[in-house]
Amino acid sequence: PTAIDAREPGYDIPARLGDPVAAIATPALIVDLDAFERNLDRMRDRAAALGVALRAHAKMHKSADVARLQTTRGGAVGICCQKVSEAEALMRAGITDVLVSNEVVGEARVARLVRLAERGRIAVCADHPEQVAAFSRAVIARRAETGATGLTLDVLVEMDCGSGRCGTGSVAESVALARAIDAAPGLRLAGLQSYYGRAQHLYDPAERRAALATSLALTAETRDAIRAAGLPCDRVTGAGTGSFEIEGASGIYTEIQAGSYAFMDADYARVRSGDGTAPFAHALFVLATVISVPGRGRAVCDAGLKAVAVDSGLPLVHDRPGLAVTGLSDEHGNLSDPDGQLHLGDQIRLVPGHCDPTCNLHDWYVGVRDGRVACLWPVTARGKVF
Ligand code: PLP
Ligand code: MN
Repeated sequence: PTAIDAREPGYDIPARLGDPVAAIATPALIVDLDAFERNLDRMRDRAAALGVALRAHAKMHKSADVARLQTTRGGAVGICCQKVSEAEALMRAGITDVLVSNEVVGEARVARLVRLAERGRIAVCADHPEQVAAFSRAVIARRAETGATGLTLDVLVEMDCGSGRCGTGSVAESVALARAIDAAPGLRLAGLQSYYGRAQHLYDPAERRAALATSLALTAETRDAIRAAGLPCDRVTGAGTGSFEIEGASGIYTEIQAGSYAFMDADYARVRSGDGTAPFAHALFVLATVISVPGRGRAVCDAGLKAVAVDSGLPLVHDRPGLAVTGLSDEHGNLSDPDGQLHLGDQIRLVPGHCDPTCNLHDWYVGVRDGRVACLWPVTARGKVF
C-alpha cells in the first residue's frame, strides 16, 4: 500500500483516492482541480503577456504539491515564502527556489535561513542595517564551519511603498541599505522588494489604481537612486492577486508575487469582480455537512472557526442560491435556509473569505475531479509559522 492507503479515512485522512465527494470526511479543504488548473494557466499566460516573471506566493497554500504545479504547469520561476520554517518545509519537500519575502531576525533563525542557501536558491529581504550585519555574520560563520567559501545569501532591499508594514521609509534609507548589503561579506545585493498589500484589497478599481500610482512612482525613484549610486537593481519584485496587472505593466517590476490567484477566496472575488474582468475562479472550498436542521429557516453545518478563517468576512455558500452563512462558532456554521432546502447529511461548499489562514487550519487538500477524489496533498508547511 502507498502511505496514503495505509491511513484511515475519516481519521488520518479525509478520504481515499477514488472516493466520491459524498464520502469525504468533513469539514475538508477541497480543491476543484479543473478550476485550479485554469487559474494556473491564466496567470502563466498573463505574466508572459506582461513580460514579467511570476514568483507565486506559497504562504497562501503552504503545499509543496501546489508549489510544484505553480512552477511547472503554472510557469512560475520559483515561489515566495513568508517564514524561514515555511521555506524549510517546502524545500525539504523538493522546492528549490525561494524568496523569503519578509524580514528575518534572531540568530538561530538566520542560521537556519543560511543553511537553506545550501539546499537551493534562496533570497531574503531586509529593511535595517542590523539585519544585514546579522545575515553577513551568519554566512561567514557557516563558511568557516563547512569550508564552503562560495556560500552567499541574496538579499533584497524591502521598501515601504504605502502599506505601512515593513520596509525602508525613504529613498535615502533604501540606497544606504543597498550599499550596506553590497559591501557586506557573504551577501549579494539582489534587488528591491516593493509590495503594497493594502492596495491589493481595495474593492474600487479606481482607488486601487490611484493608490498604486503613488507606489509605482516611489518604487521607480528608489530603483533609479540605487542604480545612480552605482549598485545593481535588476530585480524589482512585489504585487499580488488584486493588482498584478498594474505593477506588471508598469515597466518597473520584473517579478510579481501573486499567491491567491490559484485558489481565489471570497474577498479577492469581490476585489476582482469590480474590474469586470474576473480573471480567476474559486478553486478552494471548505466542504461541510449539515448536522442539524432545527427548523425556522435555519440549518447548521459542521464547519466553524476551526475550519474556516473569518478575518475577511464570513464564507459564502457556493452555487446554492437562497443559502447563506449567518455566523460561525468553534465547530458550527449557522446557515439561513428560508426555503428549507437543506436536509441532514447534505454537503455544501463554503468559499472562505480569506484562503491563507483557512489553509493553515487543515492537514490535507482533497483534490476533486469529475465528482471523485483525484489526489490528497498534505498542507506541507501547516503550522510552520516560525
Ligand atoms: N507578496 C507579499 C510580500 C505578501 O505579503 C503577499 C500577500 O499578502 C503577496 C505577495 C500577495 O499574495 P496574494 O496574491 O495572495 O495577495
Ligand atoms: Mn491573503
